[in-house]
Amino acid sequence: MKGQDQPLEITELDLADPKDGEVMVRLGACGVCHSDLSAVNGTLPAMTPCVLGHEGAGVVEKVGPGVTSVGPGDHVVLSWVPQCGRCYTCLRGQPQLCEMSFATALSGGLLDGTSRFSLDGLPVYQMTASGCFTEYTTVPSISVVKVDPDMPFDKAALLGCGVLTGMGAVRNTARVEEGATVAVIGTGGVGLSVILGAKLAGAAQIIAVDISADKLELAEGLGATDVVDASAGNPVAAVQALTGTTPAGMPRGVDYAFEVVGSAPTVEQALMMTRRGGTAVAVGVPRMDATINLSLFAHLFLNERRLVGCVYGSSNVQRDVQLYADLYMRGRLDLDALVSRTIPLDDVNGAFDAIEKGEVARSVIVFDG
Ligand SMILES: [Zn+2]
Ligand SMILES: [Zn+2]
Repeated sequence: MKGQDQPLEITELDLADPKDGEVMVRLGACGVCHSDLSAVNGTLPAMTPCVLGHEGAGVVEKVGPGVTSVGPGDHVVLSWVPQCGRCYTCLRGQPQLCEMSFATALSGGLLDGTSRFSLDGLPVYQMTASGCFTEYTTVPSISVVKVDPDMPFDKAALLGCGVLTGMGAVRNTARVEEGATVAVIGTGGVGLSVILGAKLAGAAQIIAVDISADKLELAEGLGATDVVDASAGNPVAAVQALTGTTPAGMPRGVDYAFEVVGSAPTVEQALMMTRRGGTAVAVGVPRMDATINLSLFAHLFLNERRLVGCVYGSSNVQRDVQLYADLYMRGRLDLDALVSRTIPLDDVNGAFDAIEKGEVARSVIVFDG
């Protein structure tokens, strides 16, 4: 990305060798995530020029000094939150908030704040210490997770962002229990992963809410028990109507509602859909100036609802990527349905158009060789 609101350009860049604790990865595949588009259109801040892409998988090409966790030839999934395992939040079981990586994400560089890409001697930044819309990238070794070399790259890549975020929101953030009722607003790649996670957790009812008939059909295929077309009327009433009534004749609402759109109205809807004592999880990436209206009386006091933030599915990257890769390889996790299409790198701008039109769960860039 040269600058905001400009189409991505394919350019030959210089890539420095990995420094201490870093690895160079030859990319096999990279998903095109809504957050890449958000970096282009300014919803998310980004340093420019920048190599976007943060949902990658590939093969370790070479390792820098001191790297023992992986070696050349290892197949890996790339994470966009380096997790140090030693800071205050990592030690308290919240590695998604690693204190070492917070500044890194904004710097456009790796852990030392500098990028490994350059053009004519000037730095080209890396999105979230990552940068995967490229044949080769160099990242911190703590950002890569070794996976089974038999796992196809286009499926493995999804573990790096969408699947980790959606499944983690269910398993780590909300901790949905067996028999729970769940609603999901927005059924793109992340929302569908919420459905996969809810199904795996044994949720009794999974209600998918979207405005796209195609995505709702996909949601049903992946385990949604009910679908609500949000363009056809009030989605809160529609979800409530599917969740039974209390002895007082009031609609009950769901135990958990996941908002995967990133807008204020849908976060408010998620909160309204939950039952008394229910939990709404804000998963979608909002604009930086977005705010919501919250009734302290109705939501927090009278009905003891919980509204929970969620970044990266509250995931422990090493633990969870390996778990989901293992589940996929054993046929327990249907990632195949999430890959709407595979494309060459040159088609990345077309993939952005497809996201804007709401056409796809995921376009995944596949690199040859
Ligand atoms: Zn993403
Ligand atoms: Zn940490």
